[in-house]
This record gives sequence, structure tokens and C-alpha cells, in this order.
Amino acid sequence: MNTSIRRPAAEQPALPYPNLLSELDLGRTRLKNRVVMGSMHTGYEDYPWMIDKLAAYYGERAAGGVGLIVTGGYAPNYLGSTVPLFGQFTTKLVAKSHRKITDAVHEHGAKILLQILHTGRYAFHPLAVSASATSAPTTPFRAWKMPGWLIRSTIRDYARAAKLAKAAGYDGIEVMGGEGYLINQFLAPLTNKRTDEWGGTPQKRRRFPVEITRQIRAAVGPDFILQFRISLVDYVPEGQTWEEIVALAKELEEAGVDIFNTDIGWHEARVPTIVTSVPSGAFVEYTHALAQQVDVPVIASNRINMPEAAEQILAETDVDLISMARPLLADPNWVNKAKAGQSDLINTCIACNQACLDHAFAHKTVSCLLNPRAGRETQLQLLPTRKAKKVAVVGAGPAGLATAVSLAERGHSVTLIEGDDRIGGQFLIASKIPGKEEFRHTLRYFQKQLEHHKVQVRLNTRITAAQLSAEGFDDVVVATGVAPRMPRIPGVEHPMVLSYADVVKEGKPVGKRVAVIGAGGIGFDVSEFLTTEDSPTLHLKEWRQEWGVSDPVDPARGGPRGGIVAPKPGPSPREVYLLARTPGPLGRKLGKTSGWVHRAAIKAKKVVQLSGVNYEKIDDQGLHITFGEEHKDPRVLEVDNVVICAGQESQRGLYDELVAKGVRAHVVGGALLAGELDAKRAIRQGTELAAAL
Ligand code: NAP
Ligand code: SF4
Repeated sequence: MNTSIRRPAAEQPALPYPNLLSELDLGRTRLKNRVVMGSMHTGYEDYPWMIDKLAAYYGERAAGGVGLIVTGGYAPNYLGSTVPLFGQFTTKLVAKSHRKITDAVHEHGAKILLQILHTGRYAFHPLAVSASATSAPTTPFRAWKMPGWLIRSTIRDYARAAKLAKAAGYDGIEVMGGEGYLINQFLAPLTNKRTDEWGGTPQKRRRFPVEITRQIRAAVGPDFILQFRISLVDYVPEGQTWEEIVALAKELEEAGVDIFNTDIGWHEARVPTIVTSVPSGAFVEYTHALAQQVDVPVIASNRINMPEAAEQILAETDVDLISMARPLLADPNWVNKAKAGQSDLINTCIACNQACLDHAFAHKTVSCLLNPRAGRETQLQLLPTRKAKKVAVVGAGPAGLATAVSLAERGHSVTLIEGDDRIGGQFLIASKIPGKEEFRHTLRYFQKQLEHHKVQVRLNTRITAAQLSAEGFDDVVVATGVAPRMPRIPGVEHPMVLSYADVVKEGKPVGKRVAVIGAGGIGFDVSEFLTTEDSPTLHLKEWRQEWGVSDPVDPARGGPRGGIVAPKPGPSPREVYLLARTPGPLGRKLGKTSGWVHRAAIKAKKVVQLSGVNYEKIDDQGLHITFGEEHKDPRVLEVDNVVICAGQESQRGLYDELVAKGVRAHVVGGALLAGELDAKRAIRQGTELAAAL
């Protein structure tokens, strides 16, 4: 910890978040506040002709007040790319093109670092290399063991990339040393089986990053920020110990590191580190412990998304800066809103990963479920309208809310009409699922935006096409959403049958033995809801037990290698069957970065998963099922309730009626298409329509 660089809160009494918004003097340069936009691969890094989009993306975040930005990862050589030839930083030509990015950021007084990332065995190509010949569970390719000459030339490549970054106008570089990428692969016995000068002992395993740091510092001189992303806990068997991590940090500091950005868990770790269900600030204790061991500033990251939490961390621990990548995708004006004391207007990242990391891992360009403008700053703009219209939006779910707020932001006169007594639609249901409580932030955000933009809101109102027509709206947007689908199963009208909305939203009582029909996203959510005790919010201690995470480091005692212990999930209050008609494992269509967490969570709660099921009938005995086309293996699941999660049907009758009456009508979200309905599409469609009207 470097106490000399911390500005006492008392020096800036006018700031709403005095620690978060205070400057940081790094000696050779100053950061205007303690907010760091962490690295997020956008997909644009891979295409040189996309540089303008990247510049607009970072420029908008810099204008939004962030102090320091770290770019997505760039490989120091072709072997280090995720996909061959993608995202390298190896030539003067590439460096020159990055001037657009650095200029766009500097224009707003922010600083920017280029992240250098060698993927090692995480590469998706047959030339993947690593400390030893090993395979990662996340790619089909087995990595080649790096010979000594390749290790030495790779170190030089890091230094060359750093020198080129300096020429491109960057304020420094971040070396990615975590998440299970190449440097981490050298550091952990799991992946470094060498017995030469690059492995065999902790000291030899850390030689690779220490040499990289030394050579970068020698190449760039003293006036260039050298930030190192250090893995504070690997969450893999045969990962590093806390003592090894501290020893690494000390050597790196001596070799020239200016700032440590902290990182939690490898990509292949079976401990969730970034999804919504991970408790807020779950890993801050690790960062605090590192800050006590080093003299340079240390950055905390992961599951910090609001200024209040960030301020508390800075005030109560030795952490110096807060890194957020996804929260700044969701709201580029996060810092400016915090500065203005308007944190309730922040569009809070809900850690769903649906449009950011799920896109990144599918090699698609990154955006945000809540902010479809993210990554599309040059294409999707909400410009002030030249002709204000009178617009009605019917339905206050995600699609209707996004449409209403975006239209009002552009200067239209908007009336939002909702049949329910609350705004939120399907998000009201989602926010009641264990681990998804943060979805309430989205409801708060929209509520505040409706007030801020003076949208007239009519709740408890079932409006007809005739009434809308009589009120003389220029345009009507139908965002009436969906209704749960009731499958045609004999006996489906039995009182034991409930819809997911009955259970989650209305809180109807559910017995001890339950069958859930339909294993889509909502079937999984409902299974988690039913197998969690009444108070669903997991506290940090219980969450650690559930996922087999050791208590954070006590430097005196150390901890288990890799930070993992045997999981001890809490008992389920119910016996639950989760059923699907489609054969094969359940949950294959869930999100790439969150699906495995949901699958592991219901497995831990011993939910019985059955696929290839035919629903024969429901009666007083329970749910009668058979399997496969031959209707074999008949069984009765003797359950108290059957909960239907069989998808939804569009509610778009109003739109058809409006069109018949000659009203200019538009339809968005689930009302347009219920199949595979998701909030990402609903919010994007609403925002795009508002931009076009
Ligand atoms: P869904 O993903 O479409 O799943 C509904 C499931 O019900 C289908 O997979 C289908 O599976 C089954 N089904 C469909 N018609 C049926 C019928 N007539 N009889 C019996 N079973 C039937 O819909 P959802 O679960 O309601 O989710 C809605 C949307 O919200 C999805 O886009 C989802 O991605 C999103 N969401 C995602 C998450 C998440 O990722 N954690 C959570 C909540 C919601 P079978 O035919 O195989 O039985
Ligand atoms: Fe956050 Fe979800 Fe947006 Fe990603 S898509 S930035 S996780 S809200």
C-alpha cells in the first residue's frame, strides 16, 4: 500500500464520493479520479478498419469522466492471438492507426493503457503455445511447449509492443498476467511442468513475467505507466498459493510495475467470479491483502458496479482504485453521474453477460443488454428530434421502458401506459430469482429516467385501440410483451398446476415436491428459486461454501493452492424435477458465460433432470410421463405442484387492432416475437425504434 498517494477525503468535501473522485498522483503523471475502465475485448481489435468505432467507443467513456481506460487485449506476436492474425500489436503501421484512439481519450483528460495479452493455451488455433504441452478445457487445441528461444523472443515481443504503444500515444501498458492466459500458465504448477530455468520452483515459474516487466521498463523508460494484471486467486487445482502471489508481486514491483490491477479466477475455473449471483465486492479482501504487501497502487475489480460500493471500498480498505469494465459499457456517463450526485440515474450493469462476454466468447462484437449503443456509438444515436411528436407506448416491460425513455430523451412527448400496478414486466420476475436481485437496479434506473424525462406514466390501465385512436397520438408503440404458454397436456387445468409468474411474481405457495415443465432460461431460474431457502440472498460466507472457495488469504496462514476447497452447498427446501421434451443434457442453450453456473447450481441442489420426456397427463397422483418416441418407461412423478415454464406467446392483438383503425403503430419486444424472447432484443428494438421515429 502506498499511503502517500491517497488523498484524504477531507481535502475535497464538495465531492459526493470524495475517495472515488479524488485524483491519484502517480509521480510521473496524475489520474483525475480512481475509476478505471477495465479491459474488455470488444471484437473491434481484430479488424484494423474498425479503429474509428473503437475510438468512438473509448472517446465516449472518456467524455463520461473515467480517469483511466485499459484497452481490450492485443497480442505481442502472432502465436499469442486468440484466433490467427487477430488483434496483434506488432507494427508501426498498427501503432500509428491507434493515434485515433489515444487522441479521442486524451481530448477529455483521461489516460489510456494498451493491454498486452498473450493467450497461450487459450488460443483457438493449432499453433497455441504454453509453458508446457497441455490442453485447456476451453479450446480443442493442445498447446505446444515453448522452447527456451521462443520464451526469450516472446519476452522481447512484449517489450516491442510496449514501445509501439508509447509511439501510439498511450500513457502506458497493462500486462495481462491473470485469467489463465500465458503468464498465468507459467506461474501455476497446473500448467507449468518444466524443470529448466522457467519452471520447477515458484521462483523459476515467475521468471517469465519478471523478465517481461524488466524488459518493458528498459524499453519504455521511466515515464510510462506499467500496470500488471495479477491473478490474486486462480480457482484451479494446482493454481498458485498466496505466498507465491505475494512473492511475485514484490519481484514485479522491483522490476518496474507502477500499478497492480487485480484479477480473480482463470477462464476455466469452476467458481463463478463475474455473474450476477456473485456477491458484490466478493474479492475485495484479496486486493486489500495485496495492497498491504506492496508500495504501489492496487486496483480492485469484479462485481463492483455502483459509486456507493466503490467509495466504501476505497474508504475502508487499502485499495487505491476501482476497475469496472461492464458498468461502463452499460453507462458511459457513470462517473459524471456520480460526480453530479445522480447515482440513481446510473444504468447499472446487472452482470448478465448476455451482450458483452457472451458475445466476446462467441467472437461477436461486444455490446450491452441495457445499453445497445455500446459498441455502436457511430451507428445508433439518440439525437434531439427536430419535430416533437405525441407518442404512446403501451407496456412497461424492458422493450416499452427503453422505447419510452429513449423517445423522451430525444424530445418527444411520451405517455407510457401499463396494465399492471408497477413498471418492469418480465424484469419484475427476474429480479425475484436468487442471485438476480440486482435486476432491481434496472427497474430503479428506468423509474428515475421516466421522472427525469417527464414521461407521463399511467399504471393500472388496460387501454383499447379505440381509446388510443381517440387520444390522437402521432404514433403508438405496442410493447405489450408476452403471456406464459400453457401447453396442451391433459389435466393442465388441475389446481396443482401453476405458471412461473404465479410462483415467482405472485408468490403462490408451492409444495415440497415439484415438477418444472420446460428447461429454458426460466425453467432453470425457477428451479433455483424453488431450491433456495426463503431468504434467497447468499451472503459471502455461504456463497464461498456453496462454490468451494477458501476464505480469503490470511498472509500468516496462507491458504490452499488455487484457493479452492470442497464445496458444501446448503440443503434444498424442496425436491425438484426439471423436465424437457428435447433429448440430451439440459441447459445447452443458456448463455456461454453464465449457463454453466446455472447448470452447476441446480446440480448442487440435487434437482433431478429428465430429458426426452412426454407429458402424458396431470391428475391427483401427480405428473405422468413417458420417454422418447415410443412413449416407453412410464412413470408418475408424485408431486404437489407442476410449474409450467414452457416459453411464452406474444400479446400483439392491440397492434393488429390499431393497424386496422389506421393508427401509425409499431410493435417491439416480446409482442413482436415471443420465441427466444430476451431482454437484449427487446431493449435493442425499443432503442432503435426511438432513434428512428
Ligand atoms: P425458452 O428458452 O424458449 O424455453 C422454454 C422451453 O419450454 C423450451 O426450451 C421447450 O423445451 C419447452 N416448451 C416449449 N413449448 C412447450 C410445450 N408446448 N410443452 C412443453 N414444453 C414446451 O423460454 P423461457 O425459458 O421462458 O425463456 C424465455 C427467454 O428468456 C429465453 O430467451 C431465455 O434466453 C431468456 N432467459 C434466459 C435466462 C438465462 O439465461 N439464465 C433466464 C431467464 C430467461 P422442450 O421442447 O425441450 O421441452
Ligand atoms: Fe452488464 Fe449485461 Fe450489459 Fe454486459 S450485457 S455490460 S453484463 S448489463
